[in-house]
Amino acid sequence: MPIPGSGLAKGLAVTLRTMTKRSHTAQYPEVQPELPPRSRGVIGLFEENCTVCMLCARECPDWCIYIDSHKETVPAAAPGGRERSRNVLDRFAIDFSLCMYCGICIEVCPFDALFWSPEFEYAETDIHELTHERDKLREWMWTVPAPPALDPAAEEPKEIAAARKAVEKAEAAAAARAAAEAAPAADAEPGTGPGAPEPGSGTPDTPAGGPA
Ligand code: SF4
Ligand code: SF4
Repeated sequence: MPIPGSGLAKGLAVTLRTMTKRSHTAQYPEVQPELPPRSRGVIGLFEENCTVCMLCARECPDWCIYIDSHKETVPAAAPGGRERSRNVLDRFAIDFSLCMYCGICIEVCPFDALFWSPEFEYAETDIHELTHERDKLREWMWTVPAPPALDPAAEEPKEIAAARKAVEKAEAAAAARAAAEAAPAADAEPGTGPGAPEPGSGTPDTPAGGPA
């Protein structure tokens, strides 16, 4: 059976302990908080990667991503080839007054076009201003922290391996082209062409055996 008044004594002990500790209150906005780099503050859009596949808008539980696009025809790359059509982004907006920061849109984007930024200072007095259009979403990209360094023992990502192989192939092709261009020039140099004098027969002005 608890001793009468022990609860009160415990409570007072906690109060005393807390009173003697330093306060953790941060004087925001004079002092900026040190947020972890993966904090969910706002979403940035890397527009160049967006293919308008609409996955993010379809998966968003709040339906707060608005995307408009139109189709454009891309001419065939080679004569006789087929024309292609591609989606061109007209509008990309996120309504942060509805967003619940679940991160599903970022997870499902197959083309790495959406990123979390720890920026959180975008409160507005007008709720309509919380709908960030694509220019504003692009601006947030500057506040997205760099990804952590790869583990040195990790396997090379297949995208980087493919890009490296493409660069190596292009460099090899350029070197082969340069060598092919240099070969006729070397053939045309005096003393190296088919009409060049035999070794030991002297130059055209100097008879064999040297000057008299
Ligand atoms: S974080 Fe969640 S709620 Fe916000 S836009 Fe993305 S999917 Fe929608
Ligand atoms: S999922 Fe990614 S690529 Fe597709 S529309 Fe959304 S941001 Fe663009």
